Amino acid sequence: MELKEEIAKLIRLQEIDSEIFKLREIKDKEKPRLLEEIKNRFEEKRVMVKEKEEEIKNIQLRKKEKEMDLASKEEGVRKAQGQLYQLKTNQEYHAKLKEISFLKADISVIEEDILNILEDLERADRELAERNSFLKREEEAYLKEKQKIKEEIKEIEAKINNLEAKRKRLTETVDKKILERYEYLLKNRNGLAIVPLKDGVCGGCFMDLPPEVINRIKQYKDIIFCEMCARMLYLEEDFGL
Ligand SMILES: [Zn+2]
Repeated sequence: MELKEEIAKLIRLQEIDSEIFKLREIKDKEKPRLLEEIKNRFEEKRVMVKEKEEEIKNIQLRKKEKEMDLASKEEGVRKAQGQLYQLKTNQEYHAKLKEISFLKADISVIEEDILNILEDLERADRELAERNSFLKREEEAYLKEKQKIKEEIKEIEAKINNLEAKRKRLTETVDKKILERYEYLLKNRNGLAIVPLKDGVCGGCFMDLPPEVINRIKQYKDIIFCEMCARMLYLEEDFGL
């Protein structure tokens, strides 16, 4: 086994894995977050319709109360008018007439209230229709956007599958022990297992490393690890990079 060759394969593998890592971040985090966001934004608009429906329900309740009130006053008038003819004295007769006229005054106030409520109801119905048609347009836009994001996720999945196949072919050629170490770092170092040492700085954790590290790397006897982050190190110039 030529160590330098193995490292060259790991560099190539890291390129693929970095791409996979990036795509997974988009697929598993970015896109789902976006889906959640557009869903919430749409739900807020749905709430606007619900609020209007609630308002209409309340107006209808008010209308019903007034109508019941009206019916009972009208019943009162009918009853009083029926009693008129049974009354014995002029005084009682006049008192009853007065009662009827009070009831009629009440009735006319209630009727006025009901007219106002009907106007409110008409206005609220109109607003509800407007909000509903707005919501419908918004829903269409939302579903379209959602569909687009889902398709993008599918495309990303296909890309990942492609890269996974590529990586599998490559890993089959890498020394088992070295691959094991690489896979461990990949998993535990945020998707970055092997990094270049550039100007004495680790490309993974950006710590300054002592100059003799370069010499140790150049010997290609052992894989050299960053003493801070434990990632594998290589020199770009040795690989024509
Ligand atoms: Zn490091």
